[in-house]
Amino acid sequence: MKRRKFLKKSSIGTAGVFSTPLLASCQEKPKDSTLLNDKVKIIKPIVVCTWNFHKATAKAWKVLNMGGNALDAVEQGVMIEEADTNNQTVGVGGRPDRDGNVTLDACIMDKESNCGAVLCMQNIAHPISVARKVMEETPHVMLAGKGAEQFAYEQGFNKTNLLTEQSKKEWLEWKKTSKYETIINIENHDTIGMLAIDKNGDIAGGCTTSGMGYKYAGRVGDSPIIGAGLFVDNEIGGATATGVGEEVVRTVGSFLIVELMRQGKSPQEACEEGVKRIMQKNKGRKDFQIGFLAINKNGETGGYCVHPGFSYSQYTEEGQINHPAESFIKA
Ligand code: ASP
Repeated sequence: MKRRKFLKKSSIGTAGVFSTPLLASCQEKPKDSTLLNDKVKIIKPIVVCTWNFHKATAKAWKVLNMGGNALDAVEQGVMIEEADTNNQTVGVGGRPDRDGNVTLDACIMDKESNCGAVLCMQNIAHPISVARKVMEETPHVMLAGKGAEQFAYEQGFNKTNLLTEQSKKEWLEWKKTSKYETIINIENHDTIGMLAIDKNGDIAGGCTTSGMGYKYAGRVGDSPIIGAGLFVDNEIGGATATGVGEEVVRTVGSFLIVELMRQGKSPQEACEEGVKRIMQKNKGRKDFQIGFLAINKNGETGGYCVHPGFSYSQYTEEGQINHPAESFIKA
C-alpha cells in the first residue's frame, strides 16, 4: 500500500567558529521566521555534508542550482559516494562485517518529516534510494536485512557484489588477528551525512554508510536511525553524525542538536553541546571519534567533533569550501 493511501486509511496525518559568513547576494530574513537573530540573512540554496566529500556536494549543488528540491539533491549527492569503490565506508567497496559480508545502512528525511531507512542490507549498491522508496512506497519507516533486500529487488534494484578485491584483501588480513578496535579518522573518509536547503527554503537530509568495519554480523549503528544519525525539522534545521554510532545512539545525537537549535542555539553551539553530552556520559573515555554537522533554517552551519580531523564540505552560490571542525580534545 502506498504511504499516502495508508495515511488516509488510518486517518493519521490529516490535520561559531565555523558558522557560515553572511553572503552579500542572499535575501533578507522574512519576518515570520522562527529563528531569533534578526541580523542573520538566509543562505539558500546550500548543501553540506560530513567530511571532504566534495564530489558529493558538487552533485547535490548541481541539482539545487537547476531548481531541484532538497530531497533529490541529497539523494543524488550521497549516491556519488555509494558508487565510489575507493570509499571503504559507504556503499560498494565498503568494509565488510567480521564474516566478510558488506551490509549497508541508510536513511532519508524530507521537509514534511517523512522518513525511510534500510538497515543491514546486502547486495544493493544504493541503499539511500531504497530508503527513499521505503519512505514513498510503503507505510513503514524501516526495513532490515533480507526484507529490505527483497523489497529493493521488487522496486527494480539490481543485485550487486559490494565486496571489492581491496576490501576483501584487507578483511582477510584483519582475520589473522580479528582484533576489533575503533579507528579514529579512517583516512578522512567516513559515513556521508548530507543536509540541503533548496530555493524554496525547504530542508532534507540523507545518511548512508557501510558502518564500522569488521562489526558483528547484524550490527546497526546510528546512521540509519532517524534522530541518531540524521534528523530534519523543516521549521528549525537539520543535523547528521559520523563516527562511532553506538555513542550517537545513546544520546539520540541529531535529534538533540535540532532541539538545541529550536531552543535558540546556533548550529555550531548545538554541535558542541551534542559532543559534550557524549563525553560526559563516557567519563574520561576518549578512544573514539564523533563528528556532528548541523544547519539551521537560515542556512547557517556548524560542525564539531571529539578528535581533530573531522571536516565538512559546503556548496553555495559562493562556491565550494571545506570547513575543518574544532574538536573537544585538542591536537
Ligand atoms: N556512524 C557509522 C556507524 O556507526 C560509522 C561511521 O560514521 O564511521 O555505523
